[in-house]
Amino acid sequence: MECFYHESTPAVGACRSCGRGVCRECVQQSPGGIACSADCRARIDNMAALVASATAEQKPPARADYRPVLLMLLLGVTFVGLLTRPYALGLFCLVFGLLSLIYRLIQNWRAKKQHTA
Ligand SMILES: [Zn+2]
Ligand SMILES: [Zn+2]
Repeated sequence: MECFYHESTPAVGACRSCGRGVCRECVQQSPGGIACSADCRARIDNMAALVASATAEQKPPARADYRPVLLMLLLGVTFVGLLTRPYALGLFCLVFGLLSLIYRLIQNWRAKKQHTA
């Protein structure tokens, strides 16, 4: 492939917007890729900004993961409930699980508050 503007110069790549070949001299670097002209560069930049804002909006708000806490509580309840030998371990799991649950509830509450504020 040769440069669109300089017929004898080999292209270093293709414009991300229109696909024309661009040589080292004509290339316009943009965060979204290379462009052949200022117009194409602006188009690529706009597209990149659009994609970035779209993905930022789609990102779900940070939510705490309750699964490890539930597992911990379940383990604790099982150990304490069955009064098996690792009784202390069960109590530890129960207390630790409850603390983690409270911590996550506060985290979620804060996130919600920040989201609505
Ligand atoms: Zn172009
Ligand atoms: Zn060129």
